[in-house]
Amino acid sequence: MSDNEAPPNGGGALRDRFGRVATDLRISLTDLCSLRCTYCMPAEGLDWLTKAQRLTDEEFFRLAALFVRLGVRSVRLTGGEPLVHPTLPDVVAGLAALDPRPEISLTTNGVSLDRFAERLVADGLDRINVSVDTLDRARFAELTRRDRLPEVLAGVAAASAAGLAPIKINSVLVRGSNLDEAPALLSWALRSGYHLRFIEHMPLDADHTWSRDDMVTADEILEIIGAQFAVVPHGARTSAPAEEFDVVDGPDRAAWTAPVGRLGIIASVTRPFCRECDRLRLTADGQLRTCLFAQSETDLRGPLRNGASDADLARIIIEAVAQKQAGHGIGSATFVQPERTMSAIGG
Ligand code: SAM
Ligand code: SF4
Repeated sequence: MSDNEAPPNGGGALRDRFGRVATDLRISLTDLCSLRCTYCMPAEGLDWLTKAQRLTDEEFFRLAALFVRLGVRSVRLTGGEPLVHPTLPDVVAGLAALDPRPEISLTTNGVSLDRFAERLVADGLDRINVSVDTLDRARFAELTRRDRLPEVLAGVAAASAAGLAPIKINSVLVRGSNLDEAPALLSWALRSGYHLRFIEHMPLDADHTWSRDDMVTADEILEIIGAQFAVVPHGARTSAPAEEFDVVDGPDRAAWTAPVGRLGIIASVTRPFCRECDRLRLTADGQLRTCLFAQSETDLRGPLRNGASDADLARIIIEAVAQKQAGHGIGSATFVQPERTMSAIGG
């Protein structure tokens, strides 16, 4: 492609050696966060990026525009905590103005969401995932090292009132902390009409406390839930990371918002979906990661700031995607946890 040539318009340009086509981009808007979840970040936080290291909104827009022209169909804003990014509504509006317009979603811890939900929807937000690991205020304060549960729950309610549906709730279960609360979280979600998804803890924590033997697996979650609820697979397994289940019976059923509820389990460790992976990640400092667990990343910020044309950047992106690794290899003896943690990559 010459420098003046436009990048290819979709059509599977982002194809890797294994035939997977990337259509989903996760943008970490910031590495900063309002919480300090024990399974994610140390109490003192991390070595934050400087303002100069972080991409500006204009730089995010230029790259996002390029990605959608290369075939990306959905953009998820994450972090760190995206609501900490001072111009989040403008970012959503900017993404909504792209052609073709991608689906725009947000993964958030919910802190201050009550103040922003309506505006975000007005600006073009299509979908939301809110992380809620416990409904017990004291436990929330312990798990996230911040006493913010009431605000988070107000945020979830505000997102629902603003018309976002279905509200997806992400929960990471940690042994010795909130594991016993799995049924209560499901009951709450069923009563409120939210779609709960349990996420297996992955070796991306800053404190390196993750252990394969200690992590809570999908099998264990299904056993605990199955002791109180009747769950059956929801149709055939699809390429989506969450394995979906219908909840057909359980305690307090009369209070559910629908006769059949939904539960998802994202078992990245024990039931990996690498063969179907269609995701790419752009970090807040402009590094392209083709896998959460990659040991290397591709610098887009350098070329961007050194005058690269769209065609130059497209070439770099296409080449990086082509080299995407086959799988995360967590089970292999040679697996090494990446240097960047989940919050610095963008979960
Ligand atoms: N701060 C936002 C939040 O908490 O939703 C967005 C970023 S956070 C990294 C995205 C998701 O990753 C959250 O649902 C969080 O619970 C999850 N997460 C963080 N560390 C994780 C880990 N080591 N393994 C699995 N999930 C993790
Ligand atoms: Fe922050 Fe999300 Fe990590 Fe919790 S999981 S510390 S909210 S980035």
